[in-house]
Amino acid sequence: MKEVILCKYGEIILKGSNKGKFEAALMREMKKRAKYVGGFTVRYNQSTVYVEPENDDVTEEDVDEMYAQAKKVFGFASVTRAAVCEKNMEAISETAREYLPGRLFGKRSFRCEAKRSDKKFPLSSPEIAAQIGGVILSSVPKIKVDLKNPEITVRIEIRDKYAYVHAGQERAAGGIPLGTGGRGLLLLSGGIDSPVAGYMMAKRGLYIEALHFESFPYTSERAREKVLQLGRELTEYCGRIRVHIISLTHIQEELRDNCEEDYFTLLLRRFMMELADRCAKEEDCKCLITGESLGQVASQTLAAINVTDCMSTLPVFRPCIGLDKEEIVERAREIGTFNTAILPYEDCCTVFTPRHPRTQPELEKVEAQEALIDRAALLEEAWESRYTVTLHQFEQ
Ligand code: ATP
Ligand code: MG
Repeated sequence: MKEVILCKYGEIILKGSNKGKFEAALMREMKKRAKYVGGFTVRYNQSTVYVEPENDDVTEEDVDEMYAQAKKVFGFASVTRAAVCEKNMEAISETAREYLPGRLFGKRSFRCEAKRSDKKFPLSSPEIAAQIGGVILSSVPKIKVDLKNPEITVRIEIRDKYAYVHAGQERAAGGIPLGTGGRGLLLLSGGIDSPVAGYMMAKRGLYIEALHFESFPYTSERAREKVLQLGRELTEYCGRIRVHIISLTHIQEELRDNCEEDYFTLLLRRFMMELADRCAKEEDCKCLITGESLGQVASQTLAAINVTDCMSTLPVFRPCIGLDKEEIVERAREIGTFNTAILPYEDCCTVFTPRHPRTQPELEKVEAQEALIDRAALLEEAWESRYTVTLHQFEQ
C-alpha cells in the first residue's frame, strides 16, 4: 500500500490570475524540503500538493520527517497522510480495511466524509461515506460513529487519477508562500517577542532578514549565540536568514555619560530604528519588523512608539502589537523558540536601563537630549561596525 502526503492550499485558492506565482513559490519550498529529506517527488493538481515516495526504500521515518516539514510550509491550510488506491469501491474498501485500523487505533468515535472531484464516479459522496463507514465499523474494534462530535474524521477523496483514504487531517501553517510578499528586516533581540514577530510576517509571505544590536562587552558572546540560535530556529520556517549585527557600545556609553537617564532607552531605540532603516535599504528590505506590543513596557507606549517610529522611513510592522504577553508566549512555544528565548542572557536594551523611563516622552525634549551628543558620528561609527552571519536551513 502506498502512502503519500496531501497538502491543501489555504488562501492561495483566492488568488485568481495570480495563482501561478503563489503555486510556484509553494512548489519551490516543498521541493527544497523534499530534497532535504530525500526520496520524495512533489507535484500539484487541483489546489493540492502531492508529496509521493519515489520507491519502496522510503521508510516510515522518512514519511514522518517529510510530514513534519510540510507542516512548516506557509501556504497550506491542512496536511494529511493518505493511502492511495485505484478509483473503484472494491479497492477503496480494501485500502480502508488495511490502512485505517492503524490510523484509528485507540479512537472511540469517527465520522466518514467523502468528496468527489471526479463527478463521473458512479457513487455519490454520501453513498461512498456510508459504505466505507461500514467497512470501518467491521474492521476497527469498539469504534462508534459520531456525526456531530467525532474524535477523528475519515475522508475518502476521489481525485484526478486515484482515490485517497485518510484520517486525522491536521491544520497546517497557513498564511501565504514565503517570498511572495518581498523581504522584511526583523529587529531580532534575544527575547520572546521578536522571533514570533518574524514568524508572523514570514507567514504573510515575507522573506526574513535580521538585524541584531549588541553592546559588547556589556552584552556577552553567549547572548549573541542565543540570538543566532533563535535565528536558526526560525530558518525551519523562513529558510536562509542573514543576520546583520551592529555594535551599540559607544552609543550607549555616550548616552550614559551625556544624557538624562530617563531618556536612555528612547534615545537608544531611535538610533536602532535609524540604523535598521539604513540596513533595510541596503539589503533591499521594504519594511522593518519588531516584536513590540502596545503598552508592554515603557518604550512601547503610544507616545514612546511615536518618538521612535518616526526614525524609520519604511513601514514598521509590529504583528504582536495587539497580543498579550501570554498569547505571544503561546505562539513562541508553538513555533519552538520559547525555550531558547528564556535563556537568561542580557540584551543591549537592558544595559544601563533607566530607573524611571519616560512613558509619555515629548519629541522636543528627546531631540534636546540628542543635541548633547554627536549623533551623526555615532551613527556612522555604529554602521561601520556591522557584520553579517548567514544561517542556513537544515543546519541544526
Ligand atoms: P523581545 O521579547 O522581542 O526582546 P521585548 O518585550 O523585550 O521584546 P524590547 O526589549 O523593548 O521588548 O524590544 C522591543 C523590540 O525591539 C523587540 O521585539 C525587537 O524587535 C527590537 N529589539 C530590542 N532589542 C533589540 C536588539 N538587541 N537587537 C535588535 N532588535 C532589538
Ligand atoms: Mg527584549
